[in-house]
Amino acid sequence: MQLEMIKLTDPALAAVREKVLGAEPLAYDDGVALYRSRDLHGIGRLANVVRERLHGDKTFYNRNRHINYTNVCALSCKFCSFYRKRGEEGAYEMPVEQVVATAVKARDAGATEVHIVGGLHPWLKFDYYLDMLRGIRAAAPDLHIKAFTAIEIVHFSRVARMSVTEVLTALRDAGLGSLPGGGAEIFDDRVHDEVFKGKVRADRWFDVHRTAHSLGIYSNATMLYGHVETLKERVNHFLALRRLQAESLATWPASFNCVIPLSFIPEGSELGNLPGPTGLTDLKTLAIARLMLDNIAHIKAFWIMQGVGLSQLALNWGCDDLDGTVVWYDITKREGGGGTTHQEMHEGELRRLIREAGRTPVERDTLYHEIRRDMPASSTTTVQPALA
Ligand code: SF4
Repeated sequence: MQLEMIKLTDPALAAVREKVLGAEPLAYDDGVALYRSRDLHGIGRLANVVRERLHGDKTFYNRNRHINYTNVCALSCKFCSFYRKRGEEGAYEMPVEQVVATAVKARDAGATEVHIVGGLHPWLKFDYYLDMLRGIRAAAPDLHIKAFTAIEIVHFSRVARMSVTEVLTALRDAGLGSLPGGGAEIFDDRVHDEVFKGKVRADRWFDVHRTAHSLGIYSNATMLYGHVETLKERVNHFLALRRLQAESLATWPASFNCVIPLSFIPEGSELGNLPGPTGLTDLKTLAIARLMLDNIAHIKAFWIMQGVGLSQLALNWGCDDLDGTVVWYDITKREGGGGTTHQEMHEGELRRLIREAGRTPVERDTLYHEIRRDMPASSTTTVQPALA
């Protein structure tokens, strides 16, 4: 592609454009320049170069169901509107049978994945989680189980008095397919101590994901932005993810599939006084994620957190994935505490949003194999692009 085809109004981005066209990794200063720039359309054009180099017009979604097995949590992170203390109004914990029945119902409705996360329940034994996985595996053998954030894994290792390696091995043997990306927030000790003290720090988060990759368990990664972090801290977050991905691609049998920047929603949290990120910050962050993370295949605009309209727009700002049908999502309600947890998007609507954005909808499974429901026998093909 010619330089002049990527129009920029901000001369400070010219060096970034050269690197993007040369498929060179961006540096810290490039990330800061992108965040400081007001050339939103130029940033989007640059992000699209990377997106289209990797995926063309393909835009991925999946048929999934989220299950939040408990909202009881030993911690009280300031940004969280999800947790309850045991006995508090609205606190719940699902029996294993209920989780398994929900997963079977999802499979029967066409889901290929269940996404299971919850609070750090102080009294549930490690067997609860193993029984949950074994129960789903027995009742719905083809369903991919993506479950438990890094902080839940560290919590299990404390509960079970086992190492992270032992915990992940036991979970994998019971049916765990991959790890979601939650709990990453912002990899910075200052931010950590200010808004999620008590949660594991970045080194433990990376330790869990590195161990998962070494055991052949793929994972995702998130970034919760728009609260007390600076733009430099956001750039450092991306660079930290890129470093582990480089190590995993070179060393381990598994790696990160996808990065999901999550827009902080203040309503209902202890940080409700903060304004939260604007639409421009959302678009910029999604595009900059695409540009900085050249060695991670997929950048997701998660419609629940970014909103449906902005997620659709983001398909032309570097994103190639919209997540899925979801059905129930307790963690965040865009309307604050009064919002509903029933947050379902039908497949037809996902495909319509993608087509209207000028992209090609592709159903995928959790590990980004393409699913062709019109094909009689073998229904999946691998679509992982070559990465830097
Ligand atoms: S963010 Fe997670 S660990 Fe923190 S309070 Fe909420 S549920 Fe608990």
